[in-house]
Parts: sequence; C-alpha cells; structure tokens
Amino acid sequence: MTIPKIELHLHIEGAAPPAFIRGLAQEKGVNLTGVFNEDGSYKFEDFSQFLRVYEAACTVLTGPEEFGRLTTAVLEQSIEQGVIYTEAFLSPDFCGGGDVGAWREYMHAMQEAAAKLPEIEMRGIVTCIRHFGPDKAKAAARCAAETAGDFITGFGMGGDEMQGKQGDFAYSFHMAREAGLRLTTHAGEWGGADSVRQAVRDLEVERIGHGVQAIDDDALVDHLAEHEIVLEVCPGSNVALGVYSDWHSHPIETLRERGVLVTVSTDDPPFFHTNLGMEYDLLGHHFGWEDDTVREVNVTAAKAAFCDDATREKLLKALEPAS
Ligand SMILES: [Zn+2]
Repeated sequence: MTIPKIELHLHIEGAAPPAFIRGLAQEKGVNLTGVFNEDGSYKFEDFSQFLRVYEAACTVLTGPEEFGRLTTAVLEQSIEQGVIYTEAFLSPDFCGGGDVGAWREYMHAMQEAAAKLPEIEMRGIVTCIRHFGPDKAKAAARCAAETAGDFITGFGMGGDEMQGKQGDFAYSFHMAREAGLRLTTHAGEWGGADSVRQAVRDLEVERIGHGVQAIDDDALVDHLAEHEIVLEVCPGSNVALGVYSDWHSHPIETLRERGVLVTVSTDDPPFFHTNLGMEYDLLGHHFGWEDDTVREVNVTAAKAAFCDDATREKLLKALEPAS
C-alpha cells in the first residue's frame, strides 16, 4: 500500500503541467518557442533558464478562468502522486496585480476548481514576492487578510532571497497574523543560515520554506528542533538549482536525525523534472527511507498543515497504518 502524501510547498504556476500550458498557448495563439524540449517537458538547465521558461509559460495564465483551469490540472497531477492534501502558494501579484477585488475573483475560481476534486484537499497560502519590495508585499498581505477563511489559511513570501531582509516585510506578516493567517517564508535556500535566523526572529513564522542551509549553524539547528519550527524541504528543487551539488550532500536526513521537523515537497515540480513520488523514491535510495520514515514525515506535515482541526484529524486518520 502506498502511503498518502501531504504537500506543503508548491507554487501554483510552478506546478503547471507542460501539456496544460502548451494547450492553453495553442488556444490563445501564443508562440512559446524555446520553452519545451522535444519530449514535451520544460527546458531546464540552470536557474536563469528556469526563470525565463517560467515567465514565458506564465504569459498564457491571463485571468481567473485560466487560474481555475490551472488549479484543476495541478491538483489532478498531485492526485496521481497520491497526494491527499496540498497547500499552494498563490500570488496576488500574478492574480490581479495586488488589487483586492480582482484577487477575490482569481481566488474564487481556484477555490471552486479545488472543491470539484474530492480526492484532494487544497488550501491557499497568499504569497508576496520578496524582490517586488515591501510596498507590493503590503498589497498582497491586504489581499490575504481580506480573503482569510476556509480556503486562504496562510501568508508567506517567495522570490529572490538575496534582495532585502526578512524584517523589511514584518508589517505585512503582522497584518496577516492579525487576520488569523498562519505564517511561512522562504529562507535558507540561498540566503544562508542567517536568513533562517532572521525569519524566525523578525517574522515569527512557524514554518520555513526550504530552511536547509540552517545546517551550517549548530545553535540554529537546535533552536529549530526545540521550538518545533517545521521545514518545507524540497530536495529535488535544491539539487536541480544547485543549492546542493547532488542528493548525497543534501542535509535533509542530517536535519531529521538532529530532531528538526522536516517535510517533503516539490516546489515547481515539472520545471525541475520531478514529482512527489520521485522525491520519496530518491530519499529511499540515498538515505534509506522506508515506509515508517515516509509515514512519520507525512504525519509531521499533517500536524503542521495550515488547516482546521477536523481536516487535520481526517489527514492523520488516513496516515494511520492499516492494522
Ligand atoms: Zn518555493
């Protein structure tokens, strides 16, 4: 029996299946030459090509209807991987330019699409983009606060980790927290252990996107373990983008052994030619993860999910070993 999976770190545009984007481009008569390999997958060589291809693919995602259809395509892909619960990063900057009224329409389209698939539960984490700066982040936080509820349950930050400091965005995170949203931010993917320290101290997040570079700071590793701060680890993404040169040097297993709560996600899976099933296969291959570890990691994810207690109970029940 395969163990049900819970995914906490997935960018909705970054999860767009290539066939879906190709189909949409054809419908709209948009030329996406240079985006796909001959076998239909996204071209991928390095980070700068990833950004170019990602942006080109996003040009066909032009309105709420497209984002509704995108949600369906992404969730169907997740269901195939055995995912029963997923949290997706949704960015008002790409969905109506940070305008609350426009954002509401995009959000409803995604929520409606998700509600049609009973095999999987979805929640949205409204995400500001770090390199767009603190003012745009405030607009995103306002969208998040205005739509906080059953579907929008979290607020986070993605984007270029080398721009600005976590603390520059404290106002937005505070606004989101006041609206009852749970908090996560990308840190320690590129910005070193110190960016994880800043995230914990200045934004008071309960989860960290990636966070793997915390491994370079022993005291910080202990702090994360002691305070039960959960890492959304995306090993395939880290290896594809060269944060670590290969799976063997990835710190996920060392972090887990040292008591840090780790979970496993795919980030932007088709862009990195991965999926959640492959991630677990490779974790098994390189670190000897067997069913009990896979189950433990998914229980951690269920406990750390930004959802209501009834949903959490349901997830934990699904993860109980068959007796
Ligand atoms: Zn990410």
